[in-house]
Amino acid sequence: MTEQQEILSALQTIHTRINNACKKAGRGADEVRLLLATKTVPPEKIRMAVEAGETLIGENRVQEYTEKFDAIKDLPCERHFIGHLQTNKIKEVLKYVSCIQSVDRIDLAEKLDARLQHEGRSIDIFVEVNTSFEESKSGIEPAKAFDLIKRINRLGTLKIKGLMTIGLLSEDELLVKKSYRLLRELRDEAIAKGLLAVDSDELSMGMSNDLEWAVEEGATMVRVGSAVFGKRG
Ligand SMILES: *Cc1c(COP(=O)(O)O)cnc(C)c1O
Repeated sequence: MTEQQEILSALQTIHTRINNACKKAGRGADEVRLLLATKTVPPEKIRMAVEAGETLIGENRVQEYTEKFDAIKDLPCERHFIGHLQTNKIKEVLKYVSCIQSVDRIDLAEKLDARLQHEGRSIDIFVEVNTSFEESKSGIEPAKAFDLIKRINRLGTLKIKGLMTIGLLSEDELLVKKSYRLLRELRDEAIAKGLLAVDSDELSMGMSNDLEWAVEEGATMVRVGSAVFGKRG
């Protein structure tokens, strides 16, 4: 198979997995969007996926966007940032993306807001929550999430679209689902309390190995890398 055939076939498999998981959960297939996690993926392969009809990509490192951007800037797709964001990279990342999914602390939100005020524009964000309680993971602690959302709501330029999590990396279905369920419950409670708008209900969760579990727990966006582009070297 050519590289292109491999990507097409892998994409088909992923969409089938998403559709089957939606069916099992009694959800419509159009309720879940696929984000392609393109870290370490060369521009030619990203192009193949977008030409195959994919509409959303996410990178983890600002440096990598900088290196790849010229080669992918003509692609008709939405671009998100999904990795840990250092405040000294804010100005740079804002050149490339329309959404930052990894806002997990107030100093980052405030510095984003200051820069966006300066540029006279706004941006979509997700609040990233650490639902696995592992210290090494990024994301705000669940107990502090509402406070962070409240404070972000006071900033004029950040529009919260929903919540994002990496989740627990494990093969234990019950434990993984528990971490995804926690994100859903936080979203539901935040909406009920009026902290999130009713249509700010996105849940970005689920990756190559566990997207079915995330969809069953309510994911509206799954982020898939290796199952489409192959193992990262
Ligand atoms: C790499 C990455 C993914 C995709 O992981 P795969 O296991 O390759 O599907 C999803 N989300 C984030 C934040 C990532 O860094």
